[in-house]
Amino acid sequence: MIFNFTVFLLTLVAMEGVGFLAHKYVMHGWGWCLHKSHHEEHLGAFETNDFYLLALALVAIALIVAGNHGHDPLQWVGAGVTAFGLIYVFVHDGMVHRHWPARPRPRSRYLKRLYSAHLLHHSVKGRRNSVSFGFLYAPSAATLKKQLRNSRAAPATESRGDDAMGADLQNG
Ligand SMILES: [Zn+2]
Ligand SMILES: [Zn+2]
Repeated sequence: MIFNFTVFLLTLVAMEGVGFLAHKYVMHGWGWCLHKSHHEEHLGAFETNDFYLLALALVAIALIVAGNHGHDPLQWVGAGVTAFGLIYVFVHDGMVHRHWPARPRPRSRYLKRLYSAHLLHHSVKGRRNSVSFGFLYAPSAATLKKQLRNSRAAPATESRGDDAMGADLQNG
């Protein structure tokens, strides 16, 4: 039981790393076409960015099924992936973006920090020069604002799309 719980917790922590890398290099990289919807104004309940959540759910289900068919402890890895997905949905979709009818508010210092960090992520229009790609861990707002100033001050090393040129720091 302790072993299973350790696997679960380690997966949850590892998923923050996986999520950070996926957000920074896939979603803001070659997978931008799907994530783009999330950085634009939209009115619908769903956006193409939700495909990433769907993919995460399929991975979690596959792991749990494999674990329950003799590949122990994959079901606990799957449980960790599921927990990460649920926290993401609650914090990101519910608390930060308010996609829900019920709108949980960030009350603790930790949640407030996640909240403002993610708003700073969205303060940059377009896929380049963003900050704060994590979901469960966030640097302080001061650190992120410094990163934003630096990225805007840095000379363009590659031809930047017009989407990056509209980068603007809002929300603080
Ligand atoms: Zn993003
Ligand atoms: Zn977001």
